Amino acid sequence: MIKKINLEYPLDSLEPYYSRETLNIHYNTLYAGYVDNTNLTLDKLDKARKERNFENIKCLEKNLSFFASGVVLHELFFENMGPAIPSSPDLKLMEQINKDFGNFEIFKEQFTESSKVVEASGWNLLVWVPRLDKLEIIQCEKHQDLTIWNSKPILVLDMWEHSYFLQYKANRAEYIKAFWNIVNWNNVNKRFKNR
Ligand code: MN
Repeated sequence: MIKKINLEYPLDSLEPYYSRETLNIHYNTLYAGYVDNTNLTLDKLDKARKERNFENIKCLEKNLSFFASGVVLHELFFENMGPAIPSSPDLKLMEQINKDFGNFEIFKEQFTESSKVVEASGWNLLVWVPRLDKLEIIQCEKHQDLTIWNSKPILVLDMWEHSYFLQYKANRAEYIKAFWNIVNWNNVNKRFKNR
């Protein structure tokens, strides 16, 4: 069970930039709904595991991705905001922004333009990409497609056809069964320990 985070500021303290009414609906109704539905889905998953009944597993895991990603992204969004008191990137962040974007103005321009063209219901994010060793901006149009933000992969199975079709044709079940024989648990253990 997860709990709603508290807002670190009063509902009207983002006025006039973000109205009390908007924040109230966003935090108390929409975000709360994501939290409730995440908990409901976690309960259903528990029940499915207890009963060893996985006939609705696709729907349940999709729902978990959708609702939990909604929780995580809304919490980032609410925590990223605050009353309009002067604040700015600290020295370290500014250095990285200058390195990766050129300067703060260019970063702000890219973030603005990128936000404008996010299709339909979506998000725009400044992210640290460890593999690229840099900050980048990414759009996220269906947040469940990225599963649950901030999750750390511990064990991964490639289910694209290229990974099994040559050998297993359409027999995905055989491929998955075979996979369990070749999992390197030392690596999984290490990833779990360093989570
Ligand atoms: Mn929202």
